[in-house]
Amino acid sequence: MTPTPASQKLFDRALAVSPGGVNSPVRAFRAVGGTPIFMKSGSGAWLTDVDGKTYVDLVGSWGPMLLGHAHPEVLAAVDSAVALGTSFGTPSEPEVLLAEEIVARTSVDSVRLVSSGTEATMSAIRLARGFTGRDKIVKFAGCYHGHVDALLAEAGSGVVTLGIPGTPGVPAHVTADTIVLPFNDRAAVEAAFAEYGAEIACLITEAAPGNMGVVPPAPGFNAFLSEICTANGALFISDEVMTGFRVTSAGHWGVDGKVEGWSPDLVTFGKVMGGGFPAAAFGGRADVMNLLAPVGPVYQAGTLSGNPIATTAGLATLKLATPDSYGRLDATSAELQRLVGEALTAEGVEHIVQNAGNMFSVFWGVTDRVANFADAQEQEAWRYKAFFHAMLDAGVYLPPSAFECWFVSAAHDAEALSRIAEALPSAARAAARAEKD
Ligand code: PLP
Repeated sequence: MTPTPASQKLFDRALAVSPGGVNSPVRAFRAVGGTPIFMKSGSGAWLTDVDGKTYVDLVGSWGPMLLGHAHPEVLAAVDSAVALGTSFGTPSEPEVLLAEEIVARTSVDSVRLVSSGTEATMSAIRLARGFTGRDKIVKFAGCYHGHVDALLAEAGSGVVTLGIPGTPGVPAHVTADTIVLPFNDRAAVEAAFAEYGAEIACLITEAAPGNMGVVPPAPGFNAFLSEICTANGALFISDEVMTGFRVTSAGHWGVDGKVEGWSPDLVTFGKVMGGGFPAAAFGGRADVMNLLAPVGPVYQAGTLSGNPIATTAGLATLKLATPDSYGRLDATSAELQRLVGEALTAEGVEHIVQNAGNMFSVFWGVTDRVANFADAQEQEAWRYKAFFHAMLDAGVYLPPSAFECWFVSAAHDAEALSRIAEALPSAARAAARAEKD
C-alpha cells in the first residue's frame, strides 16, 4: 500500500475525537482494511487527497456528484446564493424552483423537502401509516433506506459491511411491524399480503437496489409491487434516493413506471437533487401528501428543510443534467463495465457485473445472476480487498466495500477512463491471487 502520511495523521487525530474516526461507518475502510484517505479537493472526475495524490473518483460522494466535482456553474450558483444569506427559516424562491423541477421530471404531484434520505424515508413511512391507519410495513432484505429504526432490519450497505444484524439500540417492538422479504420474489410478497394484507400500511423498496451491490428488479417486478399494494389498500413507496435523477432524468421510474403507465404512491429522493449539499425529498399523490401538516394532521418539519443553498445547488445540478449528460454518463459507465469485465476475465476471476442503468457493481466469485441479498452474500467479497487496494495505489478511488455501487459522473472522460484501464490488469491479478482471510 502506498503510504499516505497526511491521511494517517488526520485519521489518528480523528480517532481521538470521534468514534472510529469517521462520521459515517463505511468511510472507515473496515471492509477493506488500511487507513481511510482524507480528501482535500475534487474537480470533475478527480479527487486529490491531503498527501497530494490524485484519484479517479468512482464513489461520487455515494451518488450526488452526477456532474462531477466542483462543476463551475453549480459553484457559481452556490456563490450567488451564499451572498444572499444562508438560511432564513421562511419559504424562499429556490425551494419552489427545485420542487417544480422535481414534479416536472417525476411522477409526484407534490414534494416536501428535507435534509437527508433517511428523513425522507422515515417521513414517507409515517405518512403512509397516517394515511392508511395501519402499522405494518414491508421491506426487502438488502435494501437500505437510511438509518431509520424501523427499516434497519436486514438492511444492506454499511450494515452488511460491518456484519451487524440490524443494530442494538432499536427496540424489538419498533421492528415488530416490519416484514422483511427476499427481493425479486413475487411468491414471498403474495404470501405476506395474503397473511397480513389488511394490516400493511406500505411496502418500500429501492427502485433498483444499489445497497447490496446493484441488483436490478426483474422485468415487471416494480409494476407487480405497485399492483399488489393497490389491491390491498397499502401504499407503494419507491425509494429513489440513489436512482433518482441518476439513471434517467426521472430516476428509475423513467425506465419502468413511466413506460408501463403506473406510478408509485410515494417516492423518496436525495443525493443528486442536493448537488452535493444536504437536500432530499419525499413526494407523491396529492391526496396522500395533503395529509401532511399544515394541511393535514401528520406532523413533519425541519429547521433547515428547503435550505436556500442546498436547493440552489440541487436545482443548478438538475438544470445541467440534460439528455446529453445522461447519454454520456451511460456510455462511459457501459465502457467501464466492459473494461472491468475484460480485465477480470483475462485473469480468470469469476465474476458478474450487474447494472441498473449507469449504476453498477461487481459480484466476485459468482457465476449466476444475483437476484437478492442471499445471493449477494454468497460472493467472495474478500477478493475485493486486494482489488480495491491495487486500484487505490494506482490512483482509482473505489467504494471501500464489495456491497456498494460504483458511481460514474458525466465528467468522467477519456483521461479518467485511461487511468482506470491502466490500473485494472494488476488489480485483477491481485484479486485472482487473493486468499480468503
Ligand atoms: N435510501 C437509499 C436507497 C439510499 O441509498 C440511502 C443512502 O445511501 C438512503 C436512503 C439514506 O440517505 P441519507 O444517507 O442521505 O440519509
